[in-house]
Amino acid sequence: MPNPLYDVLFGGHADSGRVFLHLPDGESLTYGAFVALSARLAHALTGCGLRAGDRVAMQVDKSPQALAVVAACAQAGLVFLPLNTAYTAGEVAYFVENSGAGLFICPSASRAAMAPMAARCGARLETLDADGTGSLMALADGCPAVFPTVDRGGDDLAAFLYTSGTTGRSKGAMLTQANLLSNAETLVDYWRFSADDVLLHALPIFHTHGLFVATNITLLAGGSMIFLPKFDPDAVIEALPLATSMMGVPTFYTRLLDDPRLTRDLAAHMRLFVSGSAPLLAETHERFEARTGHRILERYGMTETNMNTSNPYEGDRRAGTVGFPLPGIDLKITDPDSGATLPHGEIGQIEVRGPNVFKGYWQMPDKTAAELRADGFFITGDLGRIDGDGYVHIVGRNKDLIISGGYNIYPKEIELLLDDRPGVLESAVIGVPHPDFGETPVGLLVAEPGATPDLDAIAASLAETLAGFKRPRKLIVVGELPRNTMGKVQKNILRDRYADLYRGTGQAE
Ligand code: ATP
Ligand code: MG
Repeated sequence: MPNPLYDVLFGGHADSGRVFLHLPDGESLTYGAFVALSARLAHALTGCGLRAGDRVAMQVDKSPQALAVVAACAQAGLVFLPLNTAYTAGEVAYFVENSGAGLFICPSASRAAMAPMAARCGARLETLDADGTGSLMALADGCPAVFPTVDRGGDDLAAFLYTSGTTGRSKGAMLTQANLLSNAETLVDYWRFSADDVLLHALPIFHTHGLFVATNITLLAGGSMIFLPKFDPDAVIEALPLATSMMGVPTFYTRLLDDPRLTRDLAAHMRLFVSGSAPLLAETHERFEARTGHRILERYGMTETNMNTSNPYEGDRRAGTVGFPLPGIDLKITDPDSGATLPHGEIGQIEVRGPNVFKGYWQMPDKTAAELRADGFFITGDLGRIDGDGYVHIVGRNKDLIISGGYNIYPKEIELLLDDRPGVLESAVIGVPHPDFGETPVGLLVAEPGATPDLDAIAASLAETLAGFKRPRKLIVVGELPRNTMGKVQKNILRDRYADLYRGTGQAE
């Protein structure tokens, strides 16, 4: 059985006076203090009457104590379940109920509102506040600073991470401690993390990116993190000269580019900027490099697998690609109908296999069986291709593929063209039911502030570059695109909204 995650991540750090977290206002937390905090919290959790394998759901603001709860759960043999702080009480109730959580942790201010829900779901309720106080901390305060003796191993579940819900209702992905450890080990090597690293951490800790990827590689390498409560351009600009690396999502980079204080000098001390979770536009890549001298490293991951691919640390970081499969991870492109592996260059579904791949979706045996093949490959739900040099390109999501008159249309190809047109801020292309073609593409455009896009001119320009069957049958200007709390465009909502556009017309428009 592989080693438990935090036995490895905390190995040798129990008495360490090295700084792990740099906090706002010049405060810091050492490795030793963080391990002790996690140990006390582990005792507090076991003292709540939870048994091995029980789920602990938590919806709290980012704090060192909240991060320590993650380690405490794993060391106490419990399964951690982080919840997006933007979720409403109704959404939280779904996750607490669906996961069968034995404990729900929320801020003190939400206690009264959440209590009936927790009682209904049979979950005990404890509180944890952003300042590190709350009923859970009160329980932990008197506890020993060494972990309780719990039979634990790397094959135990460490977390239920619910997916972002971009393509439908969020699914609970069951991840083992070994899944998370293998990814951390791979990334420390691949991205050259060391004890000298100071990672600027401005991500939320309810999503795998900030919760596990950034945190675990720092712990494994013995580095430190500048732990910001959230992404705030002012705080990031202030912290950049003290950091060596940053993990972010594309909007971090576009927002930093809006700030004139972002200069080559400011980022002179940095060695690595990473982006993922959503596509990074080539334009952002080029602008960021021109401004700072740094080429952002784009990678591709997901809740179910952590990281799958990365652009090279040394070598050509290619815009529009997510790089190569990470060491130890097999990635193939397959035909969605036959499952056969497709040759380089052809678009198909992306499948991955490796020690990072999760154990299945919680209480969804049919979905798990359909997506997790017997040979270990996981059908990611993303579409992509591998180019002649081995770089992986993501073309979109399986569910967003439009099949019109038997032809496959990849919305991203059209969206990239639309986004480039004058007056267009962003776009989404969806397939809507059509009596003649089965589906037909429709383009939804958001105008730049104050602009009125010339739809006829846009249609004419698309006609110059796109085959007839790919051209949106209709272009519609909308106020905004629906996004989920992770900022991802929810095309399922758009598809529902425009489902009747051609229904009953009986003819092509
Ligand atoms: P759900 O599975 O509930 O629909 P989700 O897939 O958006 O939600 P996450 O696991 O948070 O939930 O996101 C993973 C997805 O994000 C990937 O499957 C992929 O579509 C997208 N993604 C991640 N990194 C990149 C990237 N660098 N470029 C393009 N897309 C990316
Ligand atoms: Mg997904």
